[in-house]
Amino acid sequence: MQHYLVREVFGPTLQGEGAHAGRACMFLRFAACNLACTWCDTDFAPQASRRMPPHEIVRHLRDRDVHGTRMVVVTGGEPTLQWDGEIAGALSQAGFRVHMETNGTRALHAPVDWLTVSPKPRFHERNEPLVLTSGDECKVVVDETVTEEDLAHYEQMQFDHWFLQPCHGAHYEARVRRAAMLALCRPRWRLSLQLHKIVGLP
Ligand code: SF4
Repeated sequence: MQHYLVREVFGPTLQGEGAHAGRACMFLRFAACNLACTWCDTDFAPQASRRMPPHEIVRHLRDRDVHGTRMVVVTGGEPTLQWDGEIAGALSQAGFRVHMETNGTRALHAPVDWLTVSPKPRFHERNEPLVLTSGDECKVVVDETVTEEDLAHYEQMQFDHWFLQPCHGAHYEARVRRAAMLALCRPRWRLSLQLHKIVGLP
């Protein structure tokens, strides 16, 4: 039986980003990532993680999902590094709808119900090209370096929804303004403000 390196299982909380912002859900955060974005605010360190079989992951989710959201956002780190048919099947059998958030640089080895690709133009294009170029939504985290040319490049891909999300941390207000200006110039894109942080949820 496969064991997965899991950083945390938590919820219920609100999905704060993208087309499903505001929906109650659970989170499954896998450990480890293949990129090293300098502004990453996610703790995915393998050292503080646990190896868990699928049934244990499902049990943790079920036990915590006290209001019956039956929706789990699978993230990381980078979730495609570990995602396979065994965990996908276990979550589906348990009645969970799976929404995955990936940096898009690794192939997806098992299906999900909703795929968010969040490319990091300055941190992967040279050595880690985007391989997931279609899905439900494309969400670009906007720092000082994201350009209209980057957005034009992603617009060639096959997504149904397009989001610009200001990067939290230093210079946040300037990044909000930059994301808003980019959305004004390229109307396909919508501004996504991390709702869970605004209302004080994890
Ligand atoms: S891809 Fe995501 S999780 Fe990985 S380093 Fe970049 S921001 Fe952090």
